[in-house]
Amino acid sequence: MNFCSECGQSVRVGIPDDDNRPRHICDNCGTIHYQNPKIVAGTVPVYGDKVLLCKRAIEPRVGYWTLPAGFMENEESTDAAAARETWEEANAKVDIKHLYVLIDTIAISQVYMMFLADMPEPEYGAGPESLEVELFSEDEIPWDELAFPTIEKTLRLYFEDRKKGEYPLHQCQVTKEDRDRFFAQASAVNHA
Ligand SMILES: [Zn+2]
Repeated sequence: MNFCSECGQSVRVGIPDDDNRPRHICDNCGTIHYQNPKIVAGTVPVYGDKVLLCKRAIEPRVGYWTLPAGFMENEESTDAAAARETWEEANAKVDIKHLYVLIDTIAISQVYMMFLADMPEPEYGAGPESLEVELFSEDEIPWDELAFPTIEKTLRLYFEDRKKGEYPLHQCQVTKEDRDRFFAQASAVNHA
């Protein structure tokens, strides 16, 4: 951030009085611009023994597969955001079951909230942010072509739970080390 969104003057980075972290501060109007984590809401859309994935048409990670998910909008609930993203990216209508995987990705200040969801019909298609949308069984999942470590983690949990027939809420983290490992492997595969 370079300029104040309130008054347009330059901002500086500093630790405000009574605070302990650096913030963007506008000395002209006195506004302190706090930045907080973003919430990514999405679904694990299930039809029979298959899960719906989207091949990304947009950066980052164009051409890699993901579960439908995206940033929440203001004045929206998390489950509505997850259903909306599923409709926009995969043109699929889903019945949201419950919050299924919550992942803190501290290194990039994002919180993933993935909901388990049923697809009443096997109807789907590529929205503007997707190149392709397809249903995959466990042995068809393109594990080497997944877009993000959060997506891999969610899918691993899902197929483990599927064997037990129980889908409890999982609260977990994707660490910086997890991310480095994931993207190193992905690029090795990609350049092979
Ligand atoms: Zn200002």
